[in-house]
Amino acid sequence: MSEKNSAAKELKEKLLLNRKNAVFKLTDNELAECDSYCEGYKSFMNAAKTEREAVITAVDMLKKNGFCEYKPGMKLAAGDRVYRVNRGKALLIAVIGTEPISAGVRLCAAHIDSPRLDLKQNPLYEDNETAFFKTHYYGGIKKYQWTTIPLSLHGVIIRADGTSVTVNVGEDENDPVFCVTDLLPHLATEQMKRPLAQGIKGEDLNILIGSRPFRDDEASSAVKLNIMKILNEKYGIIEADFISAELEAVPAFKAKDIGFDRSLIGAYGHDDRVCAYPALTAAIDCKAPKHTAVTVLTDKEETGSNGNTGLCSSYLEYFIYDLAEALGSDGRTVLSASECLSADVNAAFDPNFPEVNERNNCAYINRGVCITKYTGARGKSGTSDASAEFAGRIRILMDANNVIWQTGELGKVDEGGGGTVAAYIANLNVDTIDMGVPVLCMHAPYEVVSKIDTYMAYKAFSVFMAD
Ligand code: MN
Ligand code: MN
Repeated sequence: MSEKNSAAKELKEKLLLNRKNAVFKLTDNELAECDSYCEGYKSFMNAAKTEREAVITAVDMLKKNGFCEYKPGMKLAAGDRVYRVNRGKALLIAVIGTEPISAGVRLCAAHIDSPRLDLKQNPLYEDNETAFFKTHYYGGIKKYQWTTIPLSLHGVIIRADGTSVTVNVGEDENDPVFCVTDLLPHLATEQMKRPLAQGIKGEDLNILIGSRPFRDDEASSAVKLNIMKILNEKYGIIEADFISAELEAVPAFKAKDIGFDRSLIGAYGHDDRVCAYPALTAAIDCKAPKHTAVTVLTDKEETGSNGNTGLCSSYLEYFIYDLAEALGSDGRTVLSASECLSADVNAAFDPNFPEVNERNNCAYINRGVCITKYTGARGKSGTSDASAEFAGRIRILMDANNVIWQTGELGKVDEGGGGTVAAYIANLNVDTIDMGVPVLCMHAPYEVVSKIDTYMAYKAFSVFMAD
């Protein structure tokens, strides 16, 4: 190599951004650590397909790791590990730090709801001796993707006498599954001429649930009657009980390795459990932090964070106020001194659809956890846009602890856009920045993430909580 070239190489290393695949930055042992961490993640994904199941699974893990339920008025001291469940659908976790609480908390916020098909309030009907459930889709989906795939049914039904029954059908190997039908190509000439968004319409997302009539020639709607009889025997419910139910149809797929090299994971609901699980495990592994570490796993992000289990509600604020009071400060002081990682996914560059991204400013699979300074659409509408100072602090912290990270914006300018809970937390006067795992085919029934990126999210959240 000539002297000139080596000077250029030296200068390049000193001055230019190094955007390499993380494989070149990790040892074999570190790669193996990423892979083994993701075994736990896959198990979590198979157990936690809805927000309610994610809360139950997480609480179980917390209890096994010395956390106890927080009750208002409870005395707290450094090293205490507590959690609190909000209406079975959102979870707050705190590990009390050694610094005074007035120095602020380190907050990690991820969401545990994912796009899916919710049953309508009066879902059961029969058409031409076939029984269906009517649905109303939840979150942003491409509707055509939700036909002809196996679906499982999860949720809770409150019966007329006030008792509740939990539903989970389609996950066990011996369970039946359900599906939304689609037209055969032979007869789809007209359907195929429609724009993709209208190929399958919202009211076409009807779930097939049975076809055998109750054996009585006199009865009409006998297939519906037979299904209701089965449901009554199994769950003790009558048709009116659907009115007080939350039933969610989700893909029945299991989380699996993707690729001959097993570098990726395919699963339903990576958005945002691929950040929720790293935040949860980071909280569990957080032993004696300086600042109190708070983790929130929230509901309703996919529909705009409204409602009392979404982050536009006051439940997070109230929890911080409770902690502040218990530890001799006040909520306003604590929030104003706090920092937050809004742990949500970003879109990974897809070589099959390169045109929607600007290649210098998008996230790539295997380049580590993605820091997103701002989200929003059009002219950064609806974003909190983290300050240069806070972005600088986080970047320096990550580098000092060998976290592999990248930056990325969701798509080209004016291509579309999206938001996270970052703005709602920043609105509480908390320094907030988005950080999460890049996802391929986000919001599809089967999403894809990299094992390295998932582990780097865990490492990033751990480092942040310990600081
Ligand atoms: Mn998300
Ligand atoms: Mn989403």
